[in-house]
Amino acid sequence: MPAAGTPVRSAVPSTTELSPIWHPSPNFGPRRDGLKPALIVLHYTAMESASAALERLCDPGPEVSAHYLIGRNGVLWQLVREEDRAWHAGAGEWHGQTDINSRSIGVELDNQGDHPFSEPQMNALEQLLSKLMRRWSIPPDGIIGHSDMAPGRKTDPGPRFDWQRLELQSLAAPTGTEAPSETTFRELAQVRGYTADVDDDILLKTIRLRHRPWAKGPLHPDDFKALALPPHPT
Ligand SMILES: [Zn+2]
Repeated sequence: MPAAGTPVRSAVPSTTELSPIWHPSPNFGPRRDGLKPALIVLHYTAMESASAALERLCDPGPEVSAHYLIGRNGVLWQLVREEDRAWHAGAGEWHGQTDINSRSIGVELDNQGDHPFSEPQMNALEQLLSKLMRRWSIPPDGIIGHSDMAPGRKTDPGPRFDWQRLELQSLAAPTGTEAPSETTFRELAQVRGYTADVDDDILLKTIRLRHRPWAKGPLHPDDFKALALPPHPT
């Protein structure tokens, strides 16, 4: 239910497909300079339960909030409209730009940082990310951790977070600095025995079938790892 005095129109959350539970926080304002979300910042709550986190994110005292909170059972809450500026990022910068709150959507994951993120939670996150990325035209490299934009100050979502899982679905930028090249991939594949004359797409599918059967999407640095030669015996 919207808080008393909240105009009905602004109380309607803009995400309906995933049916988030609307749990409005008073901690928000307008995005500055007419900015629109270009980033999605992932956090963990570092609290013992989702209800404790909800309480804090809606408490006017600490002045913190996020657009979404995902419980460890996959329940999704929305606290701030995507059009509005939630208070999750704080001081920091990314690509030389500050005021990350005006440029981002904040997603909190119910986790204390010392245990793996559950399957239902990751699943809900993936659904949410693909919807947000489509709605706001955010590319995979716009999905960042709080630690990425606040190095030294923040460590969430932490080493337990499975970035690779997101990368494999193009829900985050792949690790690695060099753009994977089809030609280099073919050369490596030939060394490993894949000399049959097929096009790039079939070659990639064939190698994945054997080494990374779950993988989808374009050529990824991990496809190169699958072809790496074992170290020479000494
Ligand atoms: Zn955070």
